[in-house]
Amino acid sequence: MKKAIFLASAVMLFSLSLNAFTLGKLGDFKFEKVNQNVYVMHGPEKEPSKENEGFMNNPAVIESQNGLIVIDPGGNYKVGKKILLEIEKISKKPIIAVFNTHKHGDHWFANKNIKEKYPEVPIYALTYMIEQVKDNAAETWYGILDRLTGNLEGTKPFTFPSQGIENKQTVVVDGQTFIMRHYAKGHTDTDILIEHTNSNTLFIGDNLITNRFGAFDESSSIIENIKVLEKIKNQEDGFKKYALYVPGHGPSNSEISKIIDPFLNYLKIVLAGAKKAYENDMASYEIKPEVHEQLKAYHSWDAYEGQMGKHLMKAYSEIEMLNF
Ligand SMILES: [Zn+2]
Repeated sequence: MKKAIFLASAVMLFSLSLNAFTLGKLGDFKFEKVNQNVYVMHGPEKEPSKENEGFMNNPAVIESQNGLIVIDPGGNYKVGKKILLEIEKISKKPIIAVFNTHKHGDHWFANKNIKEKYPEVPIYALTYMIEQVKDNAAETWYGILDRLTGNLEGTKPFTFPSQGIENKQTVVVDGQTFIMRHYAKGHTDTDILIEHTNSNTLFIGDNLITNRFGAFDESSSIIENIKVLEKIKNQEDGFKKYALYVPGHGPSNSEISKIIDPFLNYLKIVLAGAKKAYENDMASYEIKPEVHEQLKAYHSWDAYEGQMGKHLMKAYSEIEMLNF
């Protein structure tokens, strides 16, 4: 009898592990209904690694009457397979559109999985993003993710977005309305922030990151990233109060200050430190200990150690440029 129960529970465990999207010690990942017809799978709040298999972003799904619309389907082909299985648990409706928020591969390399199953699916991104990924951004990100995760098998050839969109463009898919906003620089020079009007949700992409840090690459601007977040917070430039805010990495939240302030304040402290150093003829590393003290609340965020000094240097060089 005991043996039979053991066998039954072993079989159950086995079948559960077949069904769930599990990442070792990091646990199970699934889509949660976060607002009306909006679902988000909040990825691990970490830099890419072997442990997270290159899955760290927040793929999102909007369910319309006749299909599913996906925002940022994930970072590689192998992880994309698991994410697609989880999407199919929301509904068996077909995927009818995809949006990519910016050029970083951890957000869009899994376009490939969706295109494989739905060859006609339109994939939207900023026109300039499409140019950039075709030029060299896809290869650059392939290199980064391959080196850190070793999990890029099947990801090439890349599935680039197919439909170019511009700032302030509205895209309607099966009765669901999406309004795009683009700023020349921010997290990158290819970002779109997506407002889903039906559910009153704002997808901020990587202009907002919580609980972890990432690099500010050569196309980004800390000063401009701060401006974007302040526009959202102050409801300027067409932004309003939303029922839900979804960042590119980290938890979603319905309260604007709770979601925006942590990253915004971090960037402001870093920028103020860089400014102080510049005005006092100091190098950015000389002010680092003082800034580190002011950033106590962020010491536990993933990759703080490796990134803070680089962010300070980046902010310093932006101030230098402005004063040149
Ligand atoms: Zn990014």
